[in-house]
Amino acid sequence: MEKRNADIKAVILDLDGVIYRGQTAIPGARETAAWLTQNSYQVYYFTNNSTKTRESYVELLAGYGIAADVEHIVTSASLTAHHFSENGLLPATALVVGEGGLAEELRGIGVRVVRQRGKRPIDFVVVGMDRKFTYRKLHEAQQAIRSGAKFIATNLDATYPVEDNVIPGGGSIVVAVATAAQQEPLLIGKPSARAGELITHHAGVAPNQALMVGDRLETDIEMGRRAGLWTCLVLSGISRAEEVPALPEEHRPHWIVEGIGQLPELLASLPSGEAGKDGGGL
Ligand SMILES: [Mg+2]
Repeated sequence: MEKRNADIKAVILDLDGVIYRGQTAIPGARETAAWLTQNSYQVYYFTNNSTKTRESYVELLAGYGIAADVEHIVTSASLTAHHFSENGLLPATALVVGEGGLAEELRGIGVRVVRQRGKRPIDFVVVGMDRKFTYRKLHEAQQAIRSGAKFIATNLDATYPVEDNVIPGGGSIVVAVATAAQQEPLLIGKPSARAGELITHHAGVAPNQALMVGDRLETDIEMGRRAGLWTCLVLSGISRAEEVPALPEEHRPHWIVEGIGQLPELLASLPSGEAGKDGGGL
C-alpha cells in the first residue's frame, strides 16, 4: 500500500457497492464502521440515491448492524433540500419528478412540493430517480422549465445497482427532462464538489482531513477529487481497477482496496496524525 502523509479525521462512506449491494452486506462493513467509530473518526454515510429519507437510512444501516444518526447521513435529496435553505431560495414552489424521500426532504425545509403545474408559478423543477416516471411527468417538467422554472438534478447516475443487475438511475430521467426542455440542470449530488464541501464543513475538518470511500470513479472519486478530499476506491461495486490507469492523474483515487474490510488496515498504515495511533481493533 502506498504511503502518504495524511491526517484523516472524517471518513465518508458511499453506501451501494461499499456497505451493501442490493440487500446483501459487503464483508467487513459492520466491523469497519465499528472500528472507525472506536478510533474516533467522524463517519458520514453518503448516497446519491434520492428516493429515501435520511431517517429510513438510519433504519436500513441498523439492519446491517451499523449505528448512524441522521446528522451523519447525506443523500442527494437531503443535499438538495440543504441547497434551498443554504442559498435563501425559500419560499419556493418545486415541481418534483422523484420519489417520496425527495419530496419529504424538500417539504421538511419548507419547499412547497407539487407534482403538476397549477395556478401558482413553479420556481424550480427538481428531478431525481422516479420508478413511476411517465411521459406526463416529462411533459409537466418540460413545460415548467420552459416557463422559467430553474432546473435542479439530484444526481446524474445513469444506472442504479440492484442485486445482480442495474436498472435506470436518476441520471436517465434527468437526461430525458434536459433533452425535452433543452436546458442543462444544476447538479447537487456527487460528483458535484459542493457535497464534499458541505460534509467537511459539518465535520469541522479541512478537505485534506477527509477521506471519500466509494465504488464509482465518476461519482464518488470524482467528487472527492473536486472537493480536495482523499479518495479510496473499493472494488466491491461498479468500477474496476483496470479503469484507473486510463484516467488522468487528477481523476484517479489515491488508494484502491478490494473492499471496505481493508479500510482499517489502510488507515492504520498512514504515517502521520491521529490516524492509526491505535491500529488494533479488527
Ligand atoms: Mg456506490
